[in-house]
Amino acid sequence: MAEIDTFTARLARFTDKGLPLDDAEALADTLVKRDRDDDHRRLCLECAHLQGVGRWSCGNWKQAAVCTRPADTGLAHVLVVTPQHCPGFKGHKR
Ligand code: SF4
Repeated sequence: MAEIDTFTARLARFTDKGLPLDDAEALADTLVKRDRDDDHRRLCLECAHLQGVGRWSCGNWKQAAVCTRPADTGLAHVLVVTPQHCPGFKGHKR
């Protein structure tokens, strides 16, 4: 039951952040497997520092080390949807 609730919350988060529904469902499904495998990598989409909808930027770019100056805080789509160990990650509250 908790797994379904988590899936549903992630789906809402991902679509709120601008992912198409099909992509959001596929990604949420991937995360179910990740959690079962006890994989600690996280997505930018799960991070409280992710800013924007569809065109994303990082609100914690210095700690995350994803760019070198504020004007470059934009995040590539592939980075936002790829599980990673980011030093700036902070879990988004559902
Ligand atoms: S702090 Fe890291 S995980 Fe969070 S949005 Fe920035 S780059 Fe992504």
